[in-house]
Amino acid sequence: MQRYSGFGLAKHALSHHENWERQWRNPTPKKQYDVIIVGGGGHGLATAYYLAKEHGITNVAVVEKGWLGGGNTARNTTIVRSNYLWDESAALYEHAMKLWEGLSQDINYNVMFSQRGVMNLGHTLQDMRDIQRRVNANRLNGIDGEVLNPEQIQKIVPIMDCSKNARYPILGASWQPRAGVARHDAVAWGYARAADALGVDLLQNTEVTGFKIRDGRVFGVHTNRGDIEAKTVGCVAAGNSGVLAKMAGFRLPLESHPLQALVSEPLKPVLDTVVMSNHVHGYISQTDKGDLVIGAGIDGYNGYGQRGSFPTVEHTLQAIVEMFPMFSRVRMNRQWGGIVDTCPDACPILSKTPVKGLFFNCGWGTGGFKATPGSGHVFAWTLAKGQTHPLAAPFSIDRFHTGALVDEHGAAGVAH
Ligand SMILES: Cc1cc2nc3c(=O)[nH]c(=O)nc-3n(C[C@H](O)[C@H](O)[C@H](O)COP(=O)(O)OP(=O)(O)OC[C@H]3O[C@@H](n4cnc5c(N)ncnc54)[C@H](O)[C@@H]3O)c2cc1C
Repeated sequence: MQRYSGFGLAKHALSHHENWERQWRNPTPKKQYDVIIVGGGGHGLATAYYLAKEHGITNVAVVEKGWLGGGNTARNTTIVRSNYLWDESAALYEHAMKLWEGLSQDINYNVMFSQRGVMNLGHTLQDMRDIQRRVNANRLNGIDGEVLNPEQIQKIVPIMDCSKNARYPILGASWQPRAGVARHDAVAWGYARAADALGVDLLQNTEVTGFKIRDGRVFGVHTNRGDIEAKTVGCVAAGNSGVLAKMAGFRLPLESHPLQALVSEPLKPVLDTVVMSNHVHGYISQTDKGDLVIGAGIDGYNGYGQRGSFPTVEHTLQAIVEMFPMFSRVRMNRQWGGIVDTCPDACPILSKTPVKGLFFNCGWGTGGFKATPGSGHVFAWTLAKGQTHPLAAPFSIDRFHTGALVDEHGAAGVAH
């Protein structure tokens, strides 16, 4: 694989950048693989990469019905943080955070991971009690976190309305300095390129239409390009996970909802951190290009249309203007939606299934982008060994039978 470097950039400038190698091959599907990953989003591609890199399993296909990273991976607002409340989720998201910190070097691809800090605002006494509790829990887990007062917040974000006259005055915030944002497409492309270089076949425009199951064991998938066999199949299909589970003959405790986001026209740099408010219900950051990236909660209905409804956008923008009155005249450029797979306890499912050899990694809902490297890492381990990785064990489907749920609504909610 051609390495990317400053020297390479200068060398290719001499030939007007016309001779770069393609980032990945476009192979014809083989009849058989050791492992099939269904879904070529960030999580699926990361899984394929770590399978090849850490477990030496390179006879792997990633089967993607559209284009790589065209699902939620390319539709999210890129917030990365690890300040979850419970030990189980904090461990998983912090595992991901540590991988983020070396990811660009590891895959030789600039994912533009920017640790600019994430702030969660509190507007009521109960918000502040929850924030205090979560920051304490984070610190006990070795995760960075601070509680900020309004003066400290105003210093970090001078353009925010921290006055006492606001409808819901800001009383404080939790602050994770190591949190931030990353370039979502680059994450998909970087993992794809690195996996391809290790021999993984990336099969785009290939839709899984069913599973080949005999005697309770999977041995392949049906696709629109013919059948492909493998004794291990990992599904990482986000909002379509319920559809795939149905094809395999079981149900998952998931709901698929539209979640939308929007970006503004580019502005000069005014906001160099990420601000989230569960209470007024909106969050915002600014890209290196200058656009404001804005989002909030899911639409209230189930659906698969990657759009979203107007009342949600209106509500979100009300929240943003309430926090940042100076943005009231900024024009919005684009709006879009993705389909998120939400679990009753706001935690993912990384699990074996009733079908032997068939595994699911889903339920990341509104907040899985931040987990991409960690999710791929532990899921690869799970697929390679046929048993659940210790960090994934609390997130098995069994929890919906045993009742050992990990309720992260406080740390997830609107706050991705
Ligand atoms: C608007 C929005 C904002 C968000 N903001 C954040 C955020 O700020 N921070 C954060 O951490 N998370 C955020 N998320 C959530 C995050 O985007 C997802 O949790 C994460 O990207 C899921 O990654 P994935 O690889 O599992 O899914 P995806 O990227 O959706 O990949 C799944 C792939 O499976 C493919 N597929 C489905 N069915 C089939 C089939 N039958 N055959 C073959 N392929 C199939 C799809 O085409 C898709 O490409 C947001 C999501 C949205 C929609």
